[in-house]
Amino acid sequence: MSAQKTVHYRTCNLCEAMCGLEVKIDGEDIVSIRGDERDVFSRGYVCPKATALKDLYEDPDRLTRPVRRFGSRWERISWEEAFDEVVSRIHQIQAEHGSDAVGVYLGNPNAHNLGTLIVGLPFLRTLGSSNRFSATSCDQLPLMLASYCMYGHQLLLPIPDVDRTHFMMLIGANPLVSKGSIMAAPGIKQRFEGIRKRGGKVVVDPRRSETARLADEHVFIQPGTDALFLLGLLHEVCAAGIDLGRLVAVVKNADRIIELARAYLPEKSETVTRVPSRTVRRLAAELRVAEKAVVHGRIGACTQEFGGLCMWLVNVLNAVTGNLDEPGGSLFASPAIDVLGAADRFGAGRGSYGRWRSRVRALPEFGGELPASVLAEEILTPGKDRIRAMMTIAGNPVLSTPNGAQLDRAYASLDFAVSIDFFINETSRHADVILPPVSPIQRSHYDLALYLTAVRNTAKYSLAPFSLKEGELEDWEILTELRCRLIARRHGKLSTRYLAARAMQKAGPELMLDLGLRLGPYGKRFNPFATGLSLGKLRMNPHGIDLGPLQPTFPGRLPEEHGPIDLAPDLFVKDLERLRDRFFRADSTRADGQLLLIGRRHLRGKNSWMHNTQRLMKGKARCTLMMHPNDAEASE
Ligand code: SF4
Repeated sequence: MSAQKTVHYRTCNLCEAMCGLEVKIDGEDIVSIRGDERDVFSRGYVCPKATALKDLYEDPDRLTRPVRRFGSRWERISWEEAFDEVVSRIHQIQAEHGSDAVGVYLGNPNAHNLGTLIVGLPFLRTLGSSNRFSATSCDQLPLMLASYCMYGHQLLLPIPDVDRTHFMMLIGANPLVSKGSIMAAPGIKQRFEGIRKRGGKVVVDPRRSETARLADEHVFIQPGTDALFLLGLLHEVCAAGIDLGRLVAVVKNADRIIELARAYLPEKSETVTRVPSRTVRRLAAELRVAEKAVVHGRIGACTQEFGGLCMWLVNVLNAVTGNLDEPGGSLFASPAIDVLGAADRFGAGRGSYGRWRSRVRALPEFGGELPASVLAEEILTPGKDRIRAMMTIAGNPVLSTPNGAQLDRAYASLDFAVSIDFFINETSRHADVILPPVSPIQRSHYDLALYLTAVRNTAKYSLAPFSLKEGELEDWEILTELRCRLIARRHGKLSTRYLAARAMQKAGPELMLDLGLRLGPYGKRFNPFATGLSLGKLRMNPHGIDLGPLQPTFPGRLPEEHGPIDLAPDLFVKDLERLRDRFFRADSTRADGQLLLIGRRHLRGKNSWMHNTQRLMKGKARCTLMMHPNDAEASE
């Protein structure tokens, strides 16, 4: 290779699977992207989306400099002008109408962005708005709520031990397409074949999904009734006798679970769930007797009316079959950076529920944010506390959150909007100013958040493959500059807050990353002779470092303030009443006979950034409605 041509190893930061990539570079051009065979986590696996990193980098439609909107026309402006305008408008709106008048929405790519994860929280604190929204409430929020209520920390995410389990039950999950969610598992197909050899895999889903087609058994279920199905399983497991394994001394409310499960005979629910009671009984028995078993519920079981109940019941089933925090069951990742400890130290805390409520519908906050489903009404409903300006960071909620048409109208009505994004999309088209960061492959990378969801503990750092050009900024640089200028407006440039913010900006995310690695569970600390992890060590291992399979971590990892694992938190037990009302009351609002719509994921789609890559979008239209022929005939 000539001096200009290099091979660069990095982690794909488009989805949760964290596949290792081998990127061939010639000067400033990306020549090719393929799977890195030596990557310690993915061993060469990649999906077709990996090449989108090249497409995003080369896309002529990608903004590389800030733009200001004049009606339907966009004009390039300097960063100085852009920062000035954004900060003065936000400052003015908050000064006149209060901090909550500026709302903020964070899209899913922020979870894959080292810099934003490090500087995001200080920025949000400076902004000081309770009107914070993110993609979380359209995804895994119920799972985090269950963790918060049961284990005492919203980030104690239960991960199915796919590589060692003998029996896996997937509910509302399609990992063959998603590549694993709250189960980062590149090459999931091979991993599932391993389960089949050890025992079996069952998929519970209203649709014969790509994953269901590979399973030993597919159980069709009426959409939205998963909680009743899970209660039927729980009834059977409790009737046969629960097994809390080694966690028996750190669990409370087991008796309460046994008592409440009595009411949910599988026969009682079969007409609602359409899962025959004999199937429920057999599956419960299989779950109990399997050497190692795990139940995993995802998007279909989360983003529904009873998502919280589903996630709670999944956890309870794993606990009462002796599979919680056990190899082959449901475990908790131990990343190289102690994210839970860091969240506590930097004030994100263990989580929260209901500290404030949305203005219009009084829905509770969770983890400091409100559900995205109330964003439009918080903008459109008149009142002195309404949202008047929006800051959208790497998100396209007009397209990706409920009732996009209403949100489209809401964004159009704002006094001011700013988007941190490199595309003019369905949401950013309403912005007054767009601040474009560099494309995802141009950044250095470490998966600060997603190692919490991985099926194996590993650590890998990817250097940025190119030096940034004059005028190119990363997301974290944009956020820290906005933060410094906001602080300067409020407190002056001689204030300690301002000086501290500038110092943090100068240090950059890598310093924090190195500190986190050194002080983490595998860390080198500050002993020059120690062999533990540091950023330097990760730099010397471009294919990553394997830290071993997931290990049991309870009770040591349970937050002291929370106490034992709560099998029956009041929040969920009380919510059973709503479930009974919905399905068993004579005058229930159940929509019998009406058509029900569910969502589905495509292999070539992840977020709307992908919509501009011809390579992923070509071929027959994938945004289609699939319908059972009987339903189609009846609706004619
Ligand atoms: S599965 Fe996800 S992480 Fe792996 S290559 Fe595809 S988009 Fe990237």
